[in-house]
Amino acid sequence: MIDVISSDGLWASTPPMVIFTVTMLASFGLVIGSYLNVVVYRLPAGISTVYPGSRCPRCLMSVKPWDNIPVVSYLLLAARCRDCRGHISLRYPLVEALTSIFFVVSYWRFSPDVLEVVVACGLSSCLVVLALIDWDHRQVPLPLVFAGVICGLGLQPWLGWVAPFEAIQGVLVGGAGLWLMSGAWRLLTGEQGFGDGDVWVLALIGSFGGPVAVIKAFVVAAFLALAVLVLRIPWRRTASLRGVPFVTYLSIGALAVLFMPS
Ligand SMILES: [Zn+2]
Repeated sequence: MIDVISSDGLWASTPPMVIFTVTMLASFGLVIGSYLNVVVYRLPAGISTVYPGSRCPRCLMSVKPWDNIPVVSYLLLAARCRDCRGHISLRYPLVEALTSIFFVVSYWRFSPDVLEVVVACGLSSCLVVLALIDWDHRQVPLPLVFAGVICGLGLQPWLGWVAPFEAIQGVLVGGAGLWLMSGAWRLLTGEQGFGDGDVWVLALIGSFGGPVAVIKAFVVAAFLALAVLVLRIPWRRTASLRGVPFVTYLSIGALAVLFMPS
């Protein structure tokens, strides 16, 4: 465990420092949330997430810095592009606000350990991206997931969320377990059950939280997927797993496991 400032020091104990830290983290979360919107939009298209700067997807005009303030600009512009007056999706400010909330909750849940707070902020940002890209495109950016698995395994000796051996077990239970289940589903129904993306995202969850986190996140995801499938039956008259954004549900499950005290 790394405490840059000791647990009885400024980081956690004095109210002005807590207010300052939470305000900084909330603001930083808004900025990162704004960048996550860009990542979700550009990564599946293979476009750089850094250059060029933000543009309106309709008229392609560059967004001026003063029109690019998270949440605030959306409200000031009344959800319209300044140039073409095209509608701006409510999802942009929602992702910004949600990321900000996750950053503050990371502090609430894991301070005074700075490394744990930073990792929780990073992991929740990664899960937001994975959830939204799967929701939009039924795709999973595997290089991002692989990087996450390496971070989870590599940081665990310092992070201490689970023992390093448990993290390896988590990757195996998550990855191999879902892969086997997917094979069984294919044998039973003749259709593709889970994709490689689902398998690797579960391995990612295992690398940070071990086998217990894998099982908890999977149960939440399976419950959500089942609920949505059942609700869709009257329209689709089928309960096929095809087209279910399972990584979205897995990400929600992983966020619940990350932030809810056990
Ligand atoms: Zn526009």
